Amino acid sequence: MKLYEYQAMELFRDYGINTPETVLIESPQEAFNTAKNFKTKVVIKAQVLTGGRGKAGGIKVADSPLAAQEKYEEISKLKIKTFPVEKILLAKAVDIAKEYYLGITIDRANKAIVLMISASGGVDIEEVASQTPDKIFKLSINPLKGLEQKALEGVVSSVFEERSQVVQVVKILNKMYKLFIENDCSLVEINPFCLTKSGDCLALDGKVIFDDNALFKHPDKEELSNPEEYSSDEIKARESGLSFVSLDGDIGCIVNGAGLAMATLDIIKLFGGDPANFLDVGGSSNPNKVLKALEIILSNKKVKAILINIFGGITRCDDIAKGIIIASEQIEIKVPLVIRLIGTNDTQGRKLLKDKGFEVYEAMSEAVKKVVAVG
Ligand code: GDP
Ligand code: MN
Repeated sequence: MKLYEYQAMELFRDYGINTPETVLIESPQEAFNTAKNFKTKVVIKAQVLTGGRGKAGGIKVADSPLAAQEKYEEISKLKIKTFPVEKILLAKAVDIAKEYYLGITIDRANKAIVLMISASGGVDIEEVASQTPDKIFKLSINPLKGLEQKALEGVVSSVFEERSQVVQVVKILNKMYKLFIENDCSLVEINPFCLTKSGDCLALDGKVIFDDNALFKHPDKEELSNPEEYSSDEIKARESGLSFVSLDGDIGCIVNGAGLAMATLDIIKLFGGDPANFLDVGGSSNPNKVLKALEIILSNKKVKAILINIFGGITRCDDIAKGIIIASEQIEIKVPLVIRLIGTNDTQGRKLLKDKGFEVYEAMSEAVKKVVAVG
């Protein structure tokens, strides 16, 4: 579950991390009045659940109440990536001396938490990571041992030179870590973390993601959730009991089992294709689920081909084949459909499908190669 910047800022303040003064603004008039009350330059910030707002024109500095009102009006008309701007934050502008990056996330490869610091703050950290990875300093954290202070000081000293800065940043990272652990986060990020010309440390932007799998431990977080985080396809899929995530590519995927679904995405990529979605229909042969899945995938105009990849364990492949046939009779499939069917009763299942003219494979690699070729 992703938080908006303004929600992250509130959480930061709860944990004693300093941020600029901010107000969520609802109208141009309010932008004018708030800027007038602040008596400083202000920053108008689009609140969207995606990065790169600055580049998209979603962050603007205003040096008068009237300018604040105008910039508010401009920003409220923007659409950033797929997100229309529906919430706008107004922040007291600060005099930035230098921008840094501070982040804590999960390092899956190392099965640990990782803390990252960089003096290349303010910009897209993924870009820094891919082009100049040596500019990111990392500390791997064993969650059972917690944040080791000696090691933390060491990594902070690689980026901050002055002793007083090191002391301040160590304190802030401890607060971020506490926030990360207590709220079961998968990401806590401050970018930019800035030193102001008067020597203060402030979080100028905040990103917080709660791990959905731990939300049951935090019923109070429910009110922070933002349904617009999910695409309309994802919402439709969830209502039909399908586990679905929208992706950017053009090959629609229907798979049974989350592990196989992940492997399918990897193999599509390996053979040069680009998946349009992750979809786990679960262990059932229920034709309704396949029908819903096909409807959702076909409503995505980008999709050029569909792969159905099924491993029949307890569910029998002949049942699944019947389900696919029933579903395909109820919906017009205008793009090539490639099926891979293996497991219990697979010979019967494949025969049923072949008799109806479907293209069916046994080997996953063959099916994936085919769908990439036709897509
Ligand atoms: P992002 O593009 O979504 O990451 O938005 P940020 O909130 O990180 O803002 C992008 C950039 O705008 C920052 O890196 C700063 O350079 C600038 N910015 C944001 N807030 C302020 C501010 O209060 N004062 C000044 N001068 N610049 C700011
Ligand atoms: Mn930022």
